[in-house]
Amino acid sequence: MSFSITLPDGSKKDFDQAVSVLDLAKGISTSLGKAAVAAKVDGEVKSVNFMLEKDSEVAILTDKDEEGLAVLRDTVAFLLEAAAQAKYPELRLGEHEANEDGFFVDTDKEDQIKVTELPELEKAIAKLIKNGQAIEPVMVKKSELEAQFKNDPFKMELLKSEGDEVAAFKMGDFVDFGFAALLPNSGKVKHFKLLSVAGAYWQGKSSNPMLQRLFGTAFFKEADLEADLKRRAEIKERDHRTIGRDLDLFFVDPKVGAGLPYWMPKGATIRRVIERYIIDKELADGYQHVYTPVLMNLDAYKTSGHWAHYREDMFPPMDMGDGEMLELRPMNCPSHIQVYKHHIRSYRELPIRIAELGMMHRYEKSGALSGLQRVREMTLNDGHTFVALEQVQEEFAKILKLIMDVYKDFDITDYYFRLSYRDPKNTDKYFANDEMWERSQKMLKGAMDDLGLDYVEAEGEAAFYGPKLDIQTKTALGNDETMSTIQLDFMLPERFDLSYVGQDGEEHRPVMIHRGIVGTMERFIAYLTEIYKGAFPTWLAPEQVEIIPVNLDAHGEYAKKVRDELLKRGFRAEVDFRNEKMGYKIRESQTQKVPYTLVLGDDEMNSNAVNVRPYGTEKQESMSLDQFINELQADVDSYSRE
Ligand code: ATP
Ligand code: ZN
Repeated sequence: MSFSITLPDGSKKDFDQAVSVLDLAKGISTSLGKAAVAAKVDGEVKSVNFMLEKDSEVAILTDKDEEGLAVLRDTVAFLLEAAAQAKYPELRLGEHEANEDGFFVDTDKEDQIKVTELPELEKAIAKLIKNGQAIEPVMVKKSELEAQFKNDPFKMELLKSEGDEVAAFKMGDFVDFGFAALLPNSGKVKHFKLLSVAGAYWQGKSSNPMLQRLFGTAFFKEADLEADLKRRAEIKERDHRTIGRDLDLFFVDPKVGAGLPYWMPKGATIRRVIERYIIDKELADGYQHVYTPVLMNLDAYKTSGHWAHYREDMFPPMDMGDGEMLELRPMNCPSHIQVYKHHIRSYRELPIRIAELGMMHRYEKSGALSGLQRVREMTLNDGHTFVALEQVQEEFAKILKLIMDVYKDFDITDYYFRLSYRDPKNTDKYFANDEMWERSQKMLKGAMDDLGLDYVEAEGEAAFYGPKLDIQTKTALGNDETMSTIQLDFMLPERFDLSYVGQDGEEHRPVMIHRGIVGTMERFIAYLTEIYKGAFPTWLAPEQVEIIPVNLDAHGEYAKKVRDELLKRGFRAEVDFRNEKMGYKIRESQTQKVPYTLVLGDDEMNSNAVNVRPYGTEKQESMSLDQFINELQADVDSYSRE
């Protein structure tokens, strides 16, 4: 036997008998021998105890390489499987994965693994680490594995795609497959953490059973693990799903409908304040608000092109049995077009601005759903303005100004502009009219340049009917999401044969501008929850004032009187009548992030006064009820800094 190994620097080493990756590394240098965690052999990651026996290209991986880190994380996933299997013999194992975020292992048993059981599993893994058990790569006959996993339908399914001989790893009695490489000994693992449990459909399909996915992470260095855990805690603190649960704003329950949110009273209050606000803003900008149905004859979506270009995102049509097909709308455009078409329009009326808080349904993939961020039923602050060609630029600037005004009111500062064009390599996804695309993309860019605004350009992000300006923000998890959008459209006016009577008495085709200012209520409120970390400014806070009587019997009536006075003036106030200690109630009011907590005792009651503790301060101050009302009003009004 003779073969040669080519190293990354191009040098070659010749061997006349099989050599392990580890021995190769040691042969290169003692320090590399120590640092080696795995190797890349002809592009595939292999363990250090993998035997080299033919000509190959080999790069040793150390703890500095991302792929080395993945080997560590896969090893912890393997140890987790072994520990969980030992603890729960009836446990079935699904898929496992290591990635840049950590690792996961899918599990299934009658009595689901709970997050409170993770510390015990951590202990069991720590024990395996302490014992320093060898983990060996082995080739196992498929039939042997089938016998071993005969009670595990998930592993049996995974085995189907394996050959007769399966590359597996063995530690004591425990054997599993589907890993590229693992560390050679459990003792090599040092710093790991099990993080959470969440439901995950077998192989990501919502028609499959739901398994419990156990998440964890691991690092070579303790400091890296600590930094990562700190980062996760910060994200969690800002995550709108966590805050939404803690403040009881909303819930989504896959059992009653994945992606279909329930707005609890507090979340509904925030939403109502925003809806009233945005309607008033739009009325002041010349919009006419309408209500149109969420169901529409499918034919309208065939005419609009949605059925041809957007069907994947639409709910299947409802066959009414008499030839009528009804569709849950994924967009409001065809509805607003009906409103436009209902009357003959004259050039004198233009721009005509039709707006609605329009509820729509989109069949988003179940894996993409996230709290209120990405849902299947949503209400868009939608509007369509119908303009003459020469009015496009002015109207575009007007809409953009409205968006910027609104952002200022909500203190939104971290965003950027993206011009979204069609994908020139995939034009059949879009309305086919090259000239139209050229013209509208140029118009959009020209408008942004005239306004002197910076933007990035993105091909393939356009709507199927035209290019858009998207305003992009970042979620707590660091994902980019579109919030607001302005879209130019020459297509739908043509498809629906829209017209207006011009000064010349002839019929002309209007241009349509689709726009969403705050976007959907769902995504917008998810975003606000994250940027404010749940501490909504007073004008948005679901509860603005929490009133705590020092003694329920003595001060309960006065507390009610103060509350009623506040309610009468349009503020949102509640009295805490629970039989709890005052200190507890005050802390609770802080956790609920209520802007003002009032504590009412004898002194306050006798002088028609209140003791005020503003949220997030140590301050407390007594003042007359009238003065407090004035200050509260000033605070509520202060959002608009115009
Ligand atoms: P995305 O790329 O995020 O799927 P889109 O480009 O399809 O969105 P538009 O058709 O432009 O979105 O929708 C208008 C607005 O609706 C977006 O700006 C965004 O605020 C919101 N939106 C879109 N899809 C969802 C969803 N699934 N859940 C919540 N809000 C959404
Ligand atoms: Zn539209």
